[in-house]
Amino acid sequence: MAESVAVPPGGTPFSGEEAREAAWRARDRRADGAFFVAVRTTGIFCRPSCPARPRRENVRFLATRTECLAAGHRPCLRCRP
Ligand SMILES: [Zn+2]
Repeated sequence: MAESVAVPPGGTPFSGEEAREAAWRARDRRADGAFFVAVRTTGIFCRPSCPARPRRENVRFLATRTECLAAGHRPCLRCRP
């Protein structure tokens, strides 16, 4: 695993789709709270470090909990985002 998190100048870590996907795949706990993983098929949303591993094509990355709730997702019972 990488020792450092790539932070774009003036930006925040995990602000891009690729950085989020990489953190989600690595179950990077540093990404918890930075973004959330919404799963279309189950209607839930998770922390990036959640042990639940939905298929990539069924997830999208949202910046806030509020966004997830507004999109109709419920918080995951395993990771309690
Ligand atoms: Zn979860």
